[in-house]
Amino acid sequence: MIKENVEKILKDIPPNVTLVAATKTRSFQEIEPLALSGVKAVGENYVKEASEKKALVTAKFSWHLIGHLQKNKVRLAVSVFDMIETVDSFKIASLIDREAGRIGKTMAVLIEVNSGGERQKNGVDPGEVKKLVDEISCLKNIEIRGLMTMGPNFAEPEDLRLIFRKTKELYDTIKTSYPELNFDHLSMGMSGSYRVAIEEGASIVRVGTAIFGERYRE
Ligand SMILES: *Cc1c(COP(=O)(O)O)cnc(C)c1O
Repeated sequence: MIKENVEKILKDIPPNVTLVAATKTRSFQEIEPLALSGVKAVGENYVKEASEKKALVTAKFSWHLIGHLQKNKVRLAVSVFDMIETVDSFKIASLIDREAGRIGKTMAVLIEVNSGGERQKNGVDPGEVKKLVDEISCLKNIEIRGLMTMGPNFAEPEDLRLIFRKTKELYDTIKTSYPELNFDHLSMGMSGSYRVAIEEGASIVRVGTAIFGERYRE
């Protein structure tokens, strides 16, 4: 079932778009076989949960942090993940930079944008992204690779189109303003919305339910 779902999604998305399997609440036994279906990247929301699973998974995935990062989890996060998609303050970026420097790693990150301007959501306001990129680009052990956004929980994926489009415009503006950065990723779109997101320029989609079915806990 999972295998068929993945194959269907991979057939659906262009080869230059990365499918990140959102694996929160899924066991390492469910994650391991994804590699055989062609999944190259997995996204986890919680650092400790990811660390425990990663220790048991033998396939070589790229591990993405897609949940909010707390200050006291930065050290573990930097050692576990290949990309942190949810950087939304200079404070958290400087902690990541310090830990990455300590272990001699260049940490790839995305800036999380609160594209819907929702009060209770994580992420930087679209108008503040450029300033944050400016500040973070001075940090030696961090490589800013692009932007990530969740967007509002609209029932209709079509309703997200304008928000995705605006986020792509912001992405393009920053890419043009900072030609020296390796700015090449825009992570947006989930199970219900990945097609719309790709049409609007996503290079990474994060898909859970459409691969595994419904989750029974968050
Ligand atoms: C769970 C999650 C996803 C995947 O959501 P689905 O609707 O299950 O595809 C994507 N991004 C983030 C940040 C998530 O927490």
